[in-house]
Amino acid sequence: MIIKTLVMGSLQVNNYLVICEKTHNAVLIDAGGDYNSTIKEAEKYNAKIKYLLNTHGHLDHIAGNYDIQTKAGAKVLIHKADEFLVESLQKQLAMYGMPNCETPKIDEFVEDGQIISVGELIFKVIHTPGHSPGSVCYLTDNALFAGDTLFADSVGRTDLPGGSYEELEKSIKNKLFTLDEAIKVYPGHGPSTSIGHEKIHNPFFGC
Ligand SMILES: [Zn+2]
Repeated sequence: MIIKTLVMGSLQVNNYLVICEKTHNAVLIDAGGDYNSTIKEAEKYNAKIKYLLNTHGHLDHIAGNYDIQTKAGAKVLIHKADEFLVESLQKQLAMYGMPNCETPKIDEFVEDGQIISVGELIFKVIHTPGHSPGSVCYLTDNALFAGDTLFADSVGRTDLPGGSYEELEKSIKNKLFTLDEAIKVYPGHGPSTSIGHEKIHNPFFGC
């Protein structure tokens, strides 16, 4: 498995290109921007992006979905509870004064516990509401793609539409902190971390 981190846009969102070394099939975790640099990176590995796995529906994570979907032919997946955010993409863009982009069409909804296979990679969907109602994490091998649920020494904000700190706390405590401590965490913004590190050092959890 190859993991490439692509930092996109003014909100510095992390998009992760995850490639199966054997089949060259790949997924893109969130698509927040520049199509050309994403495809250039994929081409370096001869990778074919099969799925666009969205961690949630905020604009900085989905603004690049349409291009990856229509030009690279990737299927757009997201949790149903964040459909309202995809539908409000234009409103979100206007609110933040961000450049215009097309709204993607959702191909499939993901749900808690679902398994997505790409080449020899297997991703498990973990529904972690709180930052947004349809926030999910994707777990593969020893890597967790956490979106804006859990950051290095921090957590996602919960003051946006549909956010709930109570839910976020429950998601992290009951669904993420019960995972193997060695699992590396790749958040939607900022540096990577691990479950073990966050259990000890994350200031939001009484450490
Ligand atoms: Zn977000």
